[in-house]
Formats: sequence, C-alpha cells, structure tokens
Amino acid sequence: MRALLLGTGSPPPNPERRGPATLIELGPERFLVDAGSGVGHQLVRAGVRAYDWPRLLITHHHSDHTIDLGHLLITRWIVGQNAPWEIWGPAGTRKQVERLLDYLAWDIDVRRAHMHDRRPPEVCVTEIEEGKIMEAGGVRVSAFLVEHDPVRPAFGFRFDGGGRSVVISGDTRPSENLVRRSQGADCLIHECCDMSRTGWVPGCGWPTLEEKIRDLQSYHTPPGEVGRIAAEARARKLVLSHLMPASTAEELSGAASARYAGPVIVGADLMEV
Ligand SMILES: [Zn+2]
Ligand SMILES: [Zn+2]
Repeated sequence: MRALLLGTGSPPPNPERRGPATLIELGPERFLVDAGSGVGHQLVRAGVRAYDWPRLLITHHHSDHTIDLGHLLITRWIVGQNAPWEIWGPAGTRKQVERLLDYLAWDIDVRRAHMHDRRPPEVCVTEIEEGKIMEAGGVRVSAFLVEHDPVRPAFGFRFDGGGRSVVISGDTRPSENLVRRSQGADCLIHECCDMSRTGWVPGCGWPTLEEKIRDLQSYHTPPGEVGRIAAEARARKLVLSHLMPASTAEELSGAASARYAGPVIVGADLMEV
C-alpha cells in the first residue's frame, strides 16, 4: 500500500507546499484524504487524471483541508465522469456539500447548456463515526477521533492493507486516542506545528504573538510532542506534515528525534512515504 503526500502545507500560502492532502493506493484502489489547495494539480502530477479522481475522506472541515473540494467536484464532472463522487466525512459534511453544490449550481447549468444528455454532478456523502468505515480493494479504513477543539468531531484515519498500515493524524493536539489507534503502524503521518514560526499582525484576532502561540498549542502538536506520540504508538516510521512556511526541516526533525528513536521524515509534496 502506497502513501503519497500530495500537499504538506498549512493555511498560509506556500509555493513549496500545497494544502493538506494525501493519496493512499493499493493496486487500482485509491483513497484521497483531504482536499487542500492545489490538490487537483497534485493528483495529476501523481498520474491520476481528473476522470479518475478518487473518493474523498475528510478529516475535518477547516478550510485548509476542504478548500479545493469544489474544484475536484466540478472538474471531475466537466471532463465527463458521471459516476457519483463518494465523500466521507464528519457530521456536517452533507450540509457543507449541499452549500457547495448550491454555489456551483449556476456554473453547472451554464455548462449543461452546451452538453447533450448530461445530468448534474452527483455526490454520495457518508457521515462517519469512530470505527471501521469501509473495506475496499483489500484496504480496511478506520476513523478515530482526535482533539482539535473547537472543531468537533475531527478525525484521523488508519489504512490497513497489502501487509502495511498507514495512519494520518488529521489536525490534532497530542491525542491519547491517536496513540491507541495507531499502535504499531508502519507509517504515522502526523501534523506538526512549529508554533514559534507563526506570523502575527495587529488585529489578527490575538492581542499578542504569545497569546496566539498559546492558543495554537490547544489544538495543534509541536514537533517534540509529535516525537513522543510516535514513540508511544510504537510507529515504525514518522512523517511530519501540515508544516508552516517558515519551519526548517532540520529543526523539525531534530525536535521530533529527541523523543523518538525511529526514522523521522520531514514530508515534502509528492513524496512517497
Ligand atoms: Zn484544522
Ligand atoms: Zn489544518
């Protein structure tokens, strides 16, 4: 089972890192986790043409994880795909997709005026709960709750198949549930927030930089803590993702390695892990 990092960035735009998205593949079976900025381009770079864009699993509805949902939905349809698009996500996903289809309705009508015998795009939404959510093509997919308050529920995903297990944390502060659910994973792809690198301007919503950093700590995980989590989960390999533009690979891997003896990989876009 192959895991390909499509986007390893976070909300601030970064030409080096697209928004959060990961592709899991076993043979012809594909699962896309999150639809961050640029995900469609990255899928094409990974050899997946728009007609074949796979089912989507959403960790949570923060915009950096869903902003290109509309691009995937409409483009897949424009190029001729009529099969309903599967979207799996937390409670609230159906409502968000309905709003998105509402927004796209004008464009869909205008395009259909050129087309023959073409129904509007169809989407099949499944709102998930913790536990096994599907088994397809020899891959068992499980969702587990993580801690990303006030976003509730927020999920991580575990994929078991082809003799391998891959865990994607989604966005979370250090989560004991994640440690339990990712025990012995071959590959743990964990969010990593080097809070000291965050930007701050007056009027951004936090009175001081220190206050913003304190707040980030309540719903993200700093690199040293990611190392501790990987060690407690006995993961065989740790991959850092969801990175800030100003973070440096040496500092991130140094901090994570201080508390985890296994291999630490600082994720990069289009890297197979
Ligand atoms: Zn988030
Ligand atoms: Zn995020």
